[in-house]
Amino acid sequence: MGKRVVVLGAGFGGLELSSILSEEFGGDLDVVLIDKSEGFVFGFSKLDVMFGRTTAEHVLHRYKDAVNPGVTFVRAEITGIDAQAKRVETTAGSFEGDFLVIALGADYDVSRTPGLAEVGHEFYSEAGAFALRETLAAFDGGNVVIGITAGPFKCPPAPSETALMLDAMLRERGIRELCTISLVMPFPRPIPPSPDASAALLEVFAERDVAWHPDTNVRSLDVEERVARLGDGSALPFDLYLGVPVHRVPAVVEASGLTVDGWVPVDPRTLETPWPDVFAVGDCAAVGTPRAGVFAERQAATAARRIASRVRDEAGDAAYDGRGICYIEFGGDEIGIVEVDFFGDRPRGTLQGPSLALAADKQEFGASRVRRWFAREWQPVG
Ligand SMILES: Cc1cc2nc3c(=O)[nH]c(=O)nc-3n(C[C@H](O)[C@H](O)[C@H](O)COP(=O)(O)OP(=O)(O)OC[C@H]3O[C@@H](n4cnc5c(N)ncnc54)[C@H](O)[C@@H]3O)c2cc1C
Repeated sequence: MGKRVVVLGAGFGGLELSSILSEEFGGDLDVVLIDKSEGFVFGFSKLDVMFGRTTAEHVLHRYKDAVNPGVTFVRAEITGIDAQAKRVETTAGSFEGDFLVIALGADYDVSRTPGLAEVGHEFYSEAGAFALRETLAAFDGGNVVIGITAGPFKCPPAPSETALMLDAMLRERGIRELCTISLVMPFPRPIPPSPDASAALLEVFAERDVAWHPDTNVRSLDVEERVARLGDGSALPFDLYLGVPVHRVPAVVEASGLTVDGWVPVDPRTLETPWPDVFAVGDCAAVGTPRAGVFAERQAATAARRIASRVRDEAGDAAYDGRGICYIEFGGDEIGIVEVDFFGDRPRGTLQGPSLALAADKQEFGASRVRRWFAREWQPVG
């Protein structure tokens, strides 16, 4: 057929999209997958490494090991995107396609939280989370504040999970009574679309003495006094600050003029941008669903099916349904599952668990993606 799809970013969205196109067309469709990183790391693996459950080496899935027919991986930094021409500039040259898929995720702007770089720790990047492994292992007590500056941020349950995983770790080490844990979030409840899961989390916060500060944010960290200044005018002293940095699209996406209000505009049902045959999926796109891998991959599946139909000159009607399943760590290896449906009129956010039994489901979630994307066996915690 001689068509080419250029996929920008090999994260949750880019890997899923290129795997589906490979399954559909084998070597008959030229898929170029571009990413600047050495490999892929699941978001949840960052917490697993940070809390000492596994190692950074174990959770890195190297792109050189991905062998999907028809897919060529190019390790390069994307430096310019011309959506009209469906062409990208990279440190390995330029690439032009019949279709372009922007799946570049979200970046972090640490400087938007004054003091964070000086006296706090962000735990959302790989480097930040991995470095915290040693910091947490050496922590011998004090006030811990887990704070968010602004939404949207990836995986809304992750800060609550961090509070409960920290509580479990400190209890295991016998130093919980020497610590306070405060969680500051600009939402009225921990998981806004799920009253069930939020109620369960609030109950566990109360049981485990996690101080919950809803409807406010952390504006800055006072470097001298080591207090977090909150949007509601109050202040929380900290010995250890774990922060979710402000999210933004990667600079190249903005510089290429692809954003409206900070994100790439798409039709939420088709994932098409205003430029013909250019799609955007996952965290960089303004879809109306939370920034999470489960949503990125389902969006990618829709975009892949739409592209497949066009490659075959067929009318395609694949539509994204806004649904996804999130796993929530409750500490002590107990996992809850929330099913969310952002576009439908069915009840939203029903919670299953938490239970030890659901941990196997989460393991299989990660293992099945690695099997599909990298053709090998893997256990998330090992
Ligand atoms: C602590 C934490 C826990 C999480 N837990 C979960 C969870 O349990 N479940 C869940 O579903 N989601 C979870 N997430 C969210 C999830 O990781 C992201 O939402 C998901 O990875 C988004 O997929 P994506 O394809 O849009 O972007 P990404 O997976 O971030 O991929 C984007 C890719 O683009 C590449 N890139 C960016 N800029 C350039 C450039 N200029 N040139 C070349 N390459 C570039 C990056 O290297 C990256 O590989 C978590 C996130 C965090 C931080």
